[in-house]
Amino acid sequence: MYHPFSPHQRARDGLFGLQAAYRLQRHVPAGHRDFWGRVRIGAAHTCWPWTGGLSQKGYGLFQYMTFTERAHRVAWELTRRCQIPRGMVVMHICDVRACCNPYHLRLGTLRENTLDMYQKGRGHDQRGESSNRAVLTWEQVRTLRATWAAGGVTKEQLAAQLGISRSHVHNILMGRYWREPQAARA
Ligand SMILES: [Zn+2]
Repeated sequence: MYHPFSPHQRARDGLFGLQAAYRLQRHVPAGHRDFWGRVRIGAAHTCWPWTGGLSQKGYGLFQYMTFTERAHRVAWELTRRCQIPRGMVVMHICDVRACCNPYHLRLGTLRENTLDMYQKGRGHDQRGESSNRAVLTWEQVRTLRATWAAGGVTKEQLAAQLGISRSHVHNILMGRYWREPQAARA
């Protein structure tokens, strides 16, 4: 079985994951070391908590230079050696948000993740954070639009997923916020 943390495997992997994902080519070696140095790596069946900072929602936050990403997403990309496909999210099988064990991470759609969250009764704990002050990224906005275009999900679910209000989701989908550069030119 592929094990990303044997010295042998690490040497063979090189730094592909971070390089592809974040285009920090010059700084990748340090970034790669920094990342796994902050994960409490254990056995394959246990959770590997992120020992660095956490987001308000309890996800590990990997900060490197000017770049910030949720740690489990970095863990997924580093170990799968590819970027998270557009429109997909990295889900925790174990429900431990700070966990970076690649065996506990799987790819899913935003819709799957939202349903999973509701089924496990976690849909409500984000209500208080539903505010337009939430900072989104372009990646999240594009995922949001792609998910909406694919159908089968409500604006409320998308809002809960991102921790923003339904009207904010609506405005993003209408193109009032987060206008794509090419759309602005057209
Ligand atoms: Zn875990």
